[in-house]
Amino acid sequence: MKIAVLTSGGDSAGMNAAVRAVVKMGILRGCETWVVREGYEGLVKGNTKAPDTHNYSTTQGNPINLPESLKDDTLVRNLRFGDGPLLRDGEGDTSDASHSLKGRYIIRVGWDDVRGWMGEGGTFIGTARSTTFRTTEGRLAAARNLIKEGIDALVVCGGDGSLTGADKFRSEWPDHVKTLRANGDIGDEEVEKYGHLKIVGLVGSIDNDMALTDMTIGAPTALHRICEAIDNINTTAASHSRAFVVEVMGRHCGWLALVAGISSGADFIFIPERPPSGDSWEEEMCATIKAHRNVGKRKTIVIVAEGAHDKNLNPIRADDVKKVLAENLGLDTRVTTLGHVQRGGRPCAWDRILPTLQGVEAVEVLLTATQDTPSYVIGISENKVTRVPLMEAVLKTQEAAKAIGEKDFEKAMSLRDSEFGESLDAFMAISTLDKRLVPDNQRLRVAIMHVGAAAGGMNAATRTAIRFCHLRGHTPLSIHNGFKGLLHDHITNPSWLGVDNWMTRGGSELGTNRVLPSIDMGGVAAKFQTHSIDALLIIGGFEAFSALLELDEARNSYPAFRIPMVHLPATISNNVPLTDYSLGSDTSLNALVDACDAIKQSASASRNRVFVVETQGGKCGYIAALGALATGAVLVYTPEVGISLDSLRNDVKFVKERYGLDVRGKSEGRLVLRNEKASDIYTTELITKILKEEGGSLFDSRSASLGHTLQGGIPSPMDRARAVRLSMKCMAFLEEQAVRIKGLKDKTRKALKGSAAVITIQGSQIVLAPVSDVEEAADMKNRRGMDPWWSELKNLAETLGGK
Ligand code: ATP
Repeated sequence: MKIAVLTSGGDSAGMNAAVRAVVKMGILRGCETWVVREGYEGLVKGNTKAPDTHNYSTTQGNPINLPESLKDDTLVRNLRFGDGPLLRDGEGDTSDASHSLKGRYIIRVGWDDVRGWMGEGGTFIGTARSTTFRTTEGRLAAARNLIKEGIDALVVCGGDGSLTGADKFRSEWPDHVKTLRANGDIGDEEVEKYGHLKIVGLVGSIDNDMALTDMTIGAPTALHRICEAIDNINTTAASHSRAFVVEVMGRHCGWLALVAGISSGADFIFIPERPPSGDSWEEEMCATIKAHRNVGKRKTIVIVAEGAHDKNLNPIRADDVKKVLAENLGLDTRVTTLGHVQRGGRPCAWDRILPTLQGVEAVEVLLTATQDTPSYVIGISENKVTRVPLMEAVLKTQEAAKAIGEKDFEKAMSLRDSEFGESLDAFMAISTLDKRLVPDNQRLRVAIMHVGAAAGGMNAATRTAIRFCHLRGHTPLSIHNGFKGLLHDHITNPSWLGVDNWMTRGGSELGTNRVLPSIDMGGVAAKFQTHSIDALLIIGGFEAFSALLELDEARNSYPAFRIPMVHLPATISNNVPLTDYSLGSDTSLNALVDACDAIKQSASASRNRVFVVETQGGKCGYIAALGALATGAVLVYTPEVGISLDSLRNDVKFVKERYGLDVRGKSEGRLVLRNEKASDIYTTELITKILKEEGGSLFDSRSASLGHTLQGGIPSPMDRARAVRLSMKCMAFLEEQAVRIKGLKDKTRKALKGSAAVITIQGSQIVLAPVSDVEEAADMKNRRGMDPWWSELKNLAETLGGK
């Protein structure tokens, strides 16, 4: 099969990673891989010039003769085709008559042509909006150009417009083939051979506006850019006691505004799907902000989606909001329109992993596609890559925009995924001072503590829990320094305003340590009684889970523990059993990606250098494996798989062969990721020394240990948003279980089962799993889950790395 990939519509971070994954997986599956420059426009223009034949050599510039054993290797035969890199600065002036790409839009590419693309924003192969492709003649020309190059499969990465175009193109394809035959452009053999076009879509859109998928390529990075900007604005807003109105993208979809609002601790948001319900948005907004100012807030942040409007569809613009804040509340107000800043920059970790997984799946879809299978778009549901009928996704997406246009906001909301609705409810709950009180006899004294190492998002979760308590009339009790602190009565009553800035803070505001309640179980129970603790939220990693397990097991002996208790997993190691994600793991991956990008640059700049990078993670290889996938590392070592002498020997041989195939003078740095506990014998230092010794004149090696930098500084927006959503669910669980326990006559541990739970993300569901069930799924000795969902990704990372 010959697969071509194109990017179309607005660019988004992660498109390069998608192209890279399609090319690499295509080659590995024995296909010829091509890229189309400038989206559909390139398809219509096609190739008016033959390729520079001297460039068309798989091992062009290869300084060494290929060993016999490698001559049949698919990867080696497809290393490079001379035209790439395509659009990097200074190398892509295709208007230059002598440039090899002049007059060529559909280009064969090889493995090394897409090397290093993962970490780069935008799209190297260019994107465009093509009016010609909207015409039948344009699409006929596109079909002719594809057939001319022998291409029978197409991957389109773009928004709903691009995908609609793709579907149209495919459905018309047989007609185009007939016309081309009638015009004499193609012969009978080609009619036979190119009877149908295989097509698959990848959703590249920063708005996250596509139905039937949780996330679109580019949306996570756009969210990063927005949150970075608002984090910066926050400090100056507080200094001057100013209000800032921040306009973000999102014509028909408020996802960016909503999630940015949650993650940045904004005061008010305007999104197209849910305009303020009252007659006057001005009054509604001013009432909320005035209340915030009355309790002493010094800064105000209002986020306005580009497509925001009131309930009668009158646009609400940032300048309108500014005017109201200045005139009605007398606030010194500034407007910041983020504009194209949101599209730009290096992709965050998730925008490398997601397009990679989806690009791989796209190739698999093409390989199994027949004339009768529908066109699919590749989506994601939590962490499962999915295939969704392309037109169903497009029509559902357009339905949401239509519902907004018809003022049917309920319908518009129902067309978003459940996370959207939950996030909006969560935002409303934690950004308001209005009360939604529970009856007096249901009010609880809720203890909140951190246990284990700090992880990004802990503070955001704590802030949410505390604000939820204020909303419902419960008393929040902050326990400082975990169980040790509890034994010393280090307990405070945090206020609504006191936690205002916690959303963006890394580390642990409450203080944390690894001490478990078994240090003095009787003492801990006594403190639960002294402080009349009615419910407990523990935020932390494997220790926090172990602490909950101990408390649950002690319930028969200590009545003080017969209360609802919940553990919210937060650890960079992501080793809590049963849950796919812990808070902090996304922040950590981003810290790793940032560090590795810098290391890789230095590795390439100084000499041909292999960096062996050591990651944290305890006996869980999650960070190393996902980090390898996100950074394009060539090798990864995890504790689950370990390292043997044989595997190490093969790995060294592979790295040597790989460097031997590089074009002289154009070698780049390579990364090897090693989890700190992957092996007691084959340490990072030893592997580095072996590589150095074996590298000879081909390459050098160095090591770097990322250590605690992986805890990250400021938590990632994804961790903050996830913290809010999960913390809200934990609090609702505590309320519900408190009522249930009150009604129980039998308060044995068995009867209480389920009231001590761990909140877990399992595929597309959030499950509050009884702590005893979590224990069953745990490898207690190695402190990790038994069957992690990501184990296959280690192999995928190495496969795409070239091994
Ligand atoms: P974004 O979300 O950034 O706007 P998009 O893919 O929706 O991305 P569009 O401008 O709508 O962007 O579409 C990109 C290109 O896809 C168009 O320029 C056009 O070439 C093609 N296209 C869109 N809709 C159609 C259609 N109905 N028929 C044929 N081609 C189409």
